[in-house]
Parts: sequence; structure tokens; C-alpha cells
Amino acid sequence: MGLALIVHGGAGDIPLERYAAARAGCQAAAVVGWRVLVAGGSALDAVQAAIMALEDNPSYNAGTGAVLTEDGHAQLDAGLMDGAALDVGAVTGVERVKNPIALARAVLASPHVLLAGPGAELFAQRAGIALCAPEALVTPAQRARWRRGYQAGDDVNVESAPERLVAVTDTHEPPPASRNGALPGAPADLVHLDGDQHGTVGAVAVDAHGHVAAGASTGGIAAKHPGRVGDTPLVGAGFYADDELGGVSSTGHGEDFIRLLLAHRAAASLATGHSAQAAASAAIRLLGERAGGHGGLILLDRAGRVGYARNTPAMAHAFIVEGMGTPFDGV
Ligand code: ASP
Repeated sequence: MGLALIVHGGAGDIPLERYAAARAGCQAAAVVGWRVLVAGGSALDAVQAAIMALEDNPSYNAGTGAVLTEDGHAQLDAGLMDGAALDVGAVTGVERVKNPIALARAVLASPHVLLAGPGAELFAQRAGIALCAPEALVTPAQRARWRRGYQAGDDVNVESAPERLVAVTDTHEPPPASRNGALPGAPADLVHLDGDQHGTVGAVAVDAHGHVAAGASTGGIAAKHPGRVGDTPLVGAGFYADDELGGVSSTGHGEDFIRLLLAHRAAASLATGHSAQAAASAAIRLLGERAGGHGGLILLDRAGRVGYARNTPAMAHAFIVEGMGTPFDGV
């Protein structure tokens, strides 16, 4: 049993020139969450703190800097779960909350599980969470992309994208793509070209009491239909935590994660003897094979062992477990 924390900054196509920023943001968020754990804080607090750091970083599609809907609004989703009591809190379609994961945490502490839109914002006010102007969440870069129409080129650099990496090592060694940034022979049909803006964020932690928590936050898919709900605020699809199993946070084309309840499946497979890495890899393999889906997930088993996998060209991530001086980060 040991402290552990892993974060992701979204699975998709990250142009090489954005690798450094994507990795640095994950590294910084992992440090924020790790400090909470080392100070004796709960896994839930660590997950919330790490995700808030990512929401506040405009490089990611969550909180400030999220993608916009077809009609030009940032509609944010977030959810988190406490693996000790199996408490869940989530919000969807909020437009005036700077840190949706903090609001999800307030929902978790209430009798509710999931609150939507204006009702979630009313709940925020009642919980003492200040509302912001919707435009405060929209960065000039996202507004410009929305104005000209989201395009594949916004986040795709196919020539320089590394190969997808479904199966990564069972150790804490950096996966090959993280070491050299490119692997030969990426099959063209595996490269994600639909123009989705990824950069959803998530975190999973195990604390000193062996409690597990997991969460995720996103602006969803670029130019999504107003009111569209993805996997991120849906327990079992976008995130899942159970002290008896472990915790998972997902990223990718949300509809496919919903169809498969993929976060829960990945966590449940830990009970069948899968290692953390095998559970992550098997879930992402299933995503591709069964639903034709694209994405990735991060996972910790209840002992704090790390697993992560993706079938997209990249997934920014960072993790730290006891015995490591600084987080390992990669894409
Ligand atoms: N899963 C998110 C959604 O479908 C998007 C993402 O992870 O990039 O809303």
C-alpha cells in the first residue's frame, strides 16, 4: 500500500509543438495533488486539487480554455468519486463555474449525484461557489477557433504524430513513445482525424489510508450540440473509484465510453486478477474493437500501482508514486 497519483490531460492528437506544454501542465498538476497526499490529505482532496490545477490551465479542454459548443458557449462537465463510501458528485452543462470539479465535489457531499445546467449553477450559489461570467471561461484562442469553425488542423499534426500506443509496459518505465516522441509505421486508419479538440483532464489517487478517488473534467467535444453530455460527468463511463478495486479516469470520444461503461469495466477487471497495466490496456483494446472508439484512460489499482493506455496518437499524463522524487510525465 502506498501513496499514488496519476493525472491525464486528454487523449487525442497533440501536435509536437504542444507536447512540452501538455506534459508540463500534467507534471505541475501531479505535484499539486501529490503535495496534498504527502501532507496527509485524502485521495479525494488530491484528485480535486490536481484537476483544479488543470482546469485553471488554459492549455487544456476543461475549465478556462474549454472548447465551445456549436453555438459558441463553453458548457462544462465534471465528476468525481470517493472509493471509500462510493459517493459520487457530477455536474453537466455548466457555463458560469470556473472550477466545475469543485462544484462536483459539493454535489458529492450532498444527497445528489448529478446536477445539470442552471440547476447545477443554482446549487453552486447555495453552496457558496461564486459564479463567473460565461465569457470568463472562453480564451481568445478558443473563440477564434470557433469563429472560423473547428478544423482537424487545430489539433492534428499527422505528419509528426507518434504511433498510437495501446500496450505500454507493465512497469513504471516510460513507454517508448514518451522517450523518443515518434515510432515508425503508424497505420493511417488509427490516426484520429475527426477534428475533435481533446484535452479533457482527469486524476486518480490513493491516499495513506488506502482510499481511492477518481475524477474528470472537460468542455466536451468541440462544436458539440448544445446540451450534449459526454462520458466525463457519468460515473462508470468517465470515472470510477472503489477502494476494493482501484480508480479510473477516461478521456476520448465520450459516447463510446458511455456505451461500454468503460471506466467501471476497467476497474472491475482488477478484481479478476488483471494487473493495473493489463486492465488499462484491455479496456482500451475493447474500446477500439467493440465500439470503434478512440481515447485513453489512466488507472491505479488499490495498492497504487499505475496503468495507462490509449489508442490515439497521444495522451498527456503524469504520475508519481512513493519512492519517486518527481512525477514522470509523458504523452
Ligand atoms: N470524453 C470527453 C467527452 O466526450 C472528451 C475528451 O475526453 O476529450 O466529452
